[in-house]
Amino acid sequence: ARAGTRMDPAVWDRIKEHPCYSEQAHHHFARMHVAVAPGCNIQCNYCNRKHDCANESRPGVVSRRLTPAEAVDHVRAVAARVPQLSVVGIAGPGDALHNAPRTLRTLELVRAALPDLTLCLSTNGLALPDHVAALKALDVHHVTITINALDPAIGAEIYPWVFHDHRRWRGEEAARLLRDRQMEGLARAAEAGLLVKVNSVLIPGINDGHMAALNAAVRAQGAFLHNIMPLISDPAHGTRFGLEGRRGPTPADLHAVRAALGDDARLMRHCRQCRADAVGMLGEDTCQEAAPPADDGAR
Ligand code: SF4
Ligand code: SF4
Repeated sequence: ARAGTRMDPAVWDRIKEHPCYSEQAHHHFARMHVAVAPGCNIQCNYCNRKHDCANESRPGVVSRRLTPAEAVDHVRAVAARVPQLSVVGIAGPGDALHNAPRTLRTLELVRAALPDLTLCLSTNGLALPDHVAALKALDVHHVTITINALDPAIGAEIYPWVFHDHRRWRGEEAARLLRDRQMEGLARAAEAGLLVKVNSVLIPGINDGHMAALNAAVRAQGAFLHNIMPLISDPAHGTRFGLEGRRGPTPADLHAVRAALGDDARLMRHCRQCRADAVGMLGEDTCQEAAPPADDGAR
């Protein structure tokens, strides 16, 4: 099922101008990510901290970290040049809600400077339950949560640790805590009227047999789209932890997992896994041209 099938028309009205959520809008509207979120509160085995967060972004290039004031200047400059700009998102390079004051300040400044833009945010979900009200107050319409496992035994293979409530959690305990916070954040955000998309990184041999259960669970909690995205393996750098050398799924693997979910799965099929500092129409990014100030080396 494509985005939009059997969708409430009022919901469709709100998403049709978001290039990521609507295939039609994909070709007519532009989005940009601002890289204001450097730190992360969990460790994913597939993450190499030299790169952007895999919540929403392709590994390969370190994003420059912007202050909230620099970010809003950058958005203003892009908006002046790219008339199709309709969406501004925060998607890393770490977790957007790990340093929530910085992210919320950025959203607030963008909201004030350019009130017509749609705001969105991506997170691993650990801190989401604490910030739903603030996101709602800033009129953030779209939130993406990356959820890779329901079963703590599978989660423990993906996440070596989670930092929450002033301490580091490990193993299945960490995976259970993360899952419970993700599901709580998803349910609360959906209840508050935010549109919540779930991303899942498909890791062959780890969570591929688990996608049907995950899909059913996130839909039951109110997710309106589920984006099953391939693990992007990075032979140049590898990952520092347990998933080293693991291959990403082939297109046939991805197709098989998606096909097994059937027509009600609300799958998203056109995500490009953009970088945390991507700018432009999907597929025609102009990050270089729109480059923000040079790296301050502060990551
Ligand atoms: Fe890396 Fe993102 Fe995972 Fe954090 S949530 S460890 S930044 S991939
Ligand atoms: Fe859209 Fe996917 Fe790119 Fe995010 S990563 S801006 S959801 S296409």
